[in-house]
Amino acid sequence: MDGVALAGIAAAVGTPFYAYSAGALRAGYGALAGAVAPQGVEVCFAVKANGNIHVLTEFARLGCGMDIVSGGEMTRALAAGVPAERIIFSGVGKTGAELRAALRAGLRQINVESPAELEAVAEAARDLGVRAPVALRVNPDVDALTHAKITTARKDSKFGIPIADIPALYTAAAARPELELAGLALHIGSQILDLEPFRRAWSAMADLIRALRAAGQRVERLDLGGGLGIGGEEQPAPCLADYARVIADTVGGMDLALTIEPGRWLCARAGVMVAGVTYTKPGDGAGFAIVDAAMNDLMRPALYDARHGVETVAAPRAPTDAGRCRLVGPICESSDDFGAYEGLGPLRAGDLLAFRDTGAYGAAMSSTYNSRDLIPEVLVDGDRFRVIRRRVGIDAALRLETPGPWQREEQD
Ligand SMILES: *Cc1c(COP(=O)(O)O)cnc(C)c1O
Repeated sequence: MDGVALAGIAAAVGTPFYAYSAGALRAGYGALAGAVAPQGVEVCFAVKANGNIHVLTEFARLGCGMDIVSGGEMTRALAAGVPAERIIFSGVGKTGAELRAALRAGLRQINVESPAELEAVAEAARDLGVRAPVALRVNPDVDALTHAKITTARKDSKFGIPIADIPALYTAAAARPELELAGLALHIGSQILDLEPFRRAWSAMADLIRALRAAGQRVERLDLGGGLGIGGEEQPAPCLADYARVIADTVGGMDLALTIEPGRWLCARAGVMVAGVTYTKPGDGAGFAIVDAAMNDLMRPALYDARHGVETVAAPRAPTDAGRCRLVGPICESSDDFGAYEGLGPLRAGDLLAFRDTGAYGAAMSSTYNSRDLIPEVLVDGDRFRVIRRRVGIDAALRLETPGPWQREEQD
């Protein structure tokens, strides 16, 4: 990775681990921000894709805003040095405490997803004696044509407010003194490779905004959401110029402050997960390579049927030796399976494998299932590397678990 040998990191840190290229993070932001700059679009990184504060810092230094979905993410974004006025608060179930914290911090905008949440925002604003800047998140009823578990804007989805309900709610909200109604937001799904769903959804937003304005409403901001996909084995990623053109064609020239909230696109390809082969084992058909990373470390294959490219870290062996094998983890679940791969060569215990494009929704989604430790995250910058999240260790984890007093042995 850049100027550092992954095998050297493995020797120093132990496997498995995530490694991120700071250069790739910066280059990705530069390319995307540059592509949408002519439309005046601001980029807000979706923190949920990779919340490590030292990753956030790389983006924050470049002037990137952030899209957050919890109070914890707000703390991270602020700690990374992102000014509050560059932070947008999304999510379907913000609590009263989170809303008050957001208002106290002075975030730019709260994207509201239901009439009930609008009431909660108004109440929080009254409590604090401030006006709450809000946008209404629209559910435009558009199929993002992606995996069912990451499509968010069909009629039956839990996200947003049905587009037909927006005009009445917008008008009512605009009249409330506790609220400063800034505009609209949407987010139609994730890992979107076909630009047509964006075109349909954003065209619907343009129509909606024209109708609201014709009715005398002020609409100043439009948050276009994230979801831009990265290419995979089957379908390449859309090119940035085409993505930017869809923005221009649909909502360009409308005198709107536009933002996008990319998560995956900005960090997925900057990261790899490196795992070691623990055992190989014959199987029915393809054999197995049992690796030391598992579904708790990289959940996307189990959760979304995602497939990550895998390469051996050392020089590849002769391709004539190539055989099929399934890469599986040690967890006691059949879904702890990264899939069948060809061409890795005959794997042996101790071999190192790099799982590509795992800088987004990798470490961020990991858990300690099976009492496995969270794995280290490493940042590579040129020829330097640094562990930016270390292992917790089972002893520290155990100290968080306290017995009921009645469980203690009788002392007297
Ligand atoms: C998840 C999410 C994003 C980021 O999605 P990506 O597919 O990673 O770009 C942006 N906005 C909202 C509201 C989200 O929930």
